[in-house]
Amino acid sequence: METYPIPMVPGPVRVPPQVLAALQKDYGSGDLEREFLDLYNQTEANLQQLCATRNRIVIQTGEGMLALWGALKSTLRPGERVLALATGVFGYGIAEMAQAIGAEVKTIGLPYDATLSNWDEIEAAILEFKPKMITAVHCETPSGTLNPLAEVGRLKAKYGVPLFYVDAVSSIGGTPVEVDAWGIDLALGGSQKVLSAPPMMAFVAVSEAAWEIIEQVDYVGYDALKPFRQAQARFEFPYTPNWHGVATLKVASDLLLQEGLTNVFARHEQVAAYCRQRLQAMGLRLLPRPDAVPSPTVTAVYVPEGISWPELDARFRRRGLVVGGSYGPLAGKVFRLGHMGSQADLALVTQALDVIEDVVRGL
Ligand code: PLP
Repeated sequence: METYPIPMVPGPVRVPPQVLAALQKDYGSGDLEREFLDLYNQTEANLQQLCATRNRIVIQTGEGMLALWGALKSTLRPGERVLALATGVFGYGIAEMAQAIGAEVKTIGLPYDATLSNWDEIEAAILEFKPKMITAVHCETPSGTLNPLAEVGRLKAKYGVPLFYVDAVSSIGGTPVEVDAWGIDLALGGSQKVLSAPPMMAFVAVSEAAWEIIEQVDYVGYDALKPFRQAQARFEFPYTPNWHGVATLKVASDLLLQEGLTNVFARHEQVAAYCRQRLQAMGLRLLPRPDAVPSPTVTAVYVPEGISWPELDARFRRRGLVVGGSYGPLAGKVFRLGHMGSQADLALVTQALDVIEDVVRGL
């Protein structure tokens, strides 16, 4: 299916017409035209609001993984210590990525249906391991969970851990991501989740402390953050700027800010609560355990007994509904509803749940 009648995939999500319209221009060269720089600066200011930060924001051409890799490579040297807080596919994945670039990694790992809550264990690990960086994932999209991060930020500040790296790809814009208040040095975002833009842009909110480290590490590569430090001041980007991509991010962030972030967050909470309540009423089991924090942007549900994931997917698709499967140990066992950004829409989610109810009733 090229387009979905009832889109519920947790990214890329349905792109609203106003955002699509931003692609319909034959833009000039972003290397030459001041209008591009103005657009980049305004988009940065918008993203700062979404991230509740005064930190500079690097906007890169590429998917979320580009930002995840670039931020690690730009700040870590082989042998440096990383404390990875892992509760799902991306948390464990980031630990492996840090290892792949030579870091010494200690992982505090939880099952995929849990969220961070044992602050004593994290505190003890910081004291004993003395990491240069703590990594965490805010919303674990494959498991539909949301890790509380304020306490990690407090511990980071208390013990002077230099860097706190947070993958907030599927939470930024849909729920508070308090970059400054939580002491996040590298906050990573993507275009195709809550922002509801096409999957071609990534961004990183970089703290002053992180910029200093980026200078020291001096990593050179396509995904390097360093050239962005002076890019705006010198009007010199490391590669041809993606005017189309930045334009979509600008419109997408404008839409969220015009709605008002408090309203946007409430919309996500409301839709997610409705989704969970109806799925449970159908007798389906949600993935997050009762004491874990479910995400307001995505809900993960166990595939019911008596049907395989491919067959369930086929039945949904025959009725126009497309949801996400899952990954890693959850593959084939869990399906997911992405009610983020344009899809955090009560009417749309109701349609999706009606289909699911119909299919489940027929089992
Ligand atoms: N981090 C999280 C939590 C995600 O959900 C995703 C994508 O699903 C990514 C990172 C990677 O983003 P991308 O697929 O744009 O590379």
